[in-house]
Amino acid sequence: MHPFEAMAEPVRRRIVELLASGEMTSGQIAEVVGSEYRVGRTASCKHLRVLRNAGFVDVRADLSWRWYRLADRGIDALEREVVDLRVKWARRSGWDAESTEKFDPLAAPPPYAASWSVPFRGPGRPARRGLRGRQTDIPAAPDPEQGLYQILPMPMRLYAGEMAGYNVPLIPLSSGYDIPQLGYGVFKVPPADTERVVLDALELGYRHIDTAAIYGNEEGVGAAIAGSGIPRDEIFLTTKLWNDRQAGDEPHAALEESLRKLGVDYVDLYLVHWPAPANANFVNAWKKLVAMSEGGAVRSIGVSNFLIEHLEQIESETGVLPAVNQIELHPAYQQRDVVAWCEARGIRIEAWGPLGQGKYDLFGAPAVHDAATAHERTPAQVVLRWHIQKGNIVFPKSVKTERLRENADIFDFSLSDAEMAGIDALDPGDESGRVGAHPSTLN
Ligand code: NAD
Repeated sequence: MHPFEAMAEPVRRRIVELLASGEMTSGQIAEVVGSEYRVGRTASCKHLRVLRNAGFVDVRADLSWRWYRLADRGIDALEREVVDLRVKWARRSGWDAESTEKFDPLAAPPPYAASWSVPFRGPGRPARRGLRGRQTDIPAAPDPEQGLYQILPMPMRLYAGEMAGYNVPLIPLSSGYDIPQLGYGVFKVPPADTERVVLDALELGYRHIDTAAIYGNEEGVGAAIAGSGIPRDEIFLTTKLWNDRQAGDEPHAALEESLRKLGVDYVDLYLVHWPAPANANFVNAWKKLVAMSEGGAVRSIGVSNFLIEHLEQIESETGVLPAVNQIELHPAYQQRDVVAWCEARGIRIEAWGPLGQGKYDLFGAPAVHDAATAHERTPAQVVLRWHIQKGNIVFPKSVKTERLRENADIFDFSLSDAEMAGIDALDPGDESGRVGAHPSTLN
């Protein structure tokens, strides 16, 4: 008998409790179907991670659902995972086990709610926040069936991407993992300064770091992660395969090297940095990344600087699409064709050079300047907010603590449709806004 069948009843009950608690799901509700557990494609990745850590294996998937089956660890693993998560969430939300006797978080805002930028409930609390604003209703009355869950003020804390008072939305990737929509990129951060600035960013609350083998600063990133004391699984770490290592088995060797320099045993996202078409190796590189994604050292795989022709080629030759395409994207250069192609296929867009790398007068453009004045924000904040509202994943770079803080402080205001349209119109549509290299010619 499959272990799932032996466990079927307790597991089914626990899953139903988890679902009822509202913490484990968002979007489509999961169901137990026969000996399998069916999860909507839009279910939160926290949910999927719990399943995976609890010993569920992904057995198949289609466009709408994923099917999981319990492997050999059983209900105990699921329970252990639940307990670990409780501790983690409690730590994040400031919830204190000692104080649960004293107040009922479902009835009243916890004392520390006063410092939150979004009201605990009532007028002023938006029904949806950010891209993943599927907030679960607070149950009218505690439900004894919900066991552990009713005591956590989790309805406020569905965002694991919170940082130092900012709620960074988590974007679900096709791999089943989530990526914090805002991160910190370290292109051109000198290796000697990297540890300090990445530590700074982590202390400010950034939980997503974008580096690359070619940046030469993976060691500094790794040292900062190790020195931060933040659990590895709370940081989303991206690195990239450089163009001269796309051939043969080189991608595997390059990954090993990056992992060693970063001092980690997995990366959250590994990207083919450029298609480098003249070398004709990017399909080989992509096949190797697909193989890597089936092991434990790479959680999600993607590409960078891929045009539609490159994407079509990897799709036709491997049938596997990347989770993200990291491309140059800022108001004067929006690559709408690539974005539309990717969006239609569930490929997330990461915008590099989100501030145009300071190479043109973006901040002086009236659409940006006027919105900044209207919202009493800096032009950089307005541009980053525009990206967030577009759904782009961004990781602006700065080595100044003040700017790191400023760049993260973009989650408590919104640009109007007219302001968004004004910034949209900054792309003349003729490629003249490009500030970086062209993917067809960089090799
Ligand atoms: P960016 O648009 O983030 O611009 C960085 C510049 O903006 C810096 O010089 C900084 O001084 C300035 N800046 C940052 N915050 C500011 C603020 N609040 N006010 C005023 N100026 C500010 O460009 P980027 O660094 O090239 O892109 C971000 C990240 O994207 C990189 O660090 C890297 O991780 C990634 N990237 C990837 C590729 C690729 O090929 N995949 C290429 C370039 C960059």
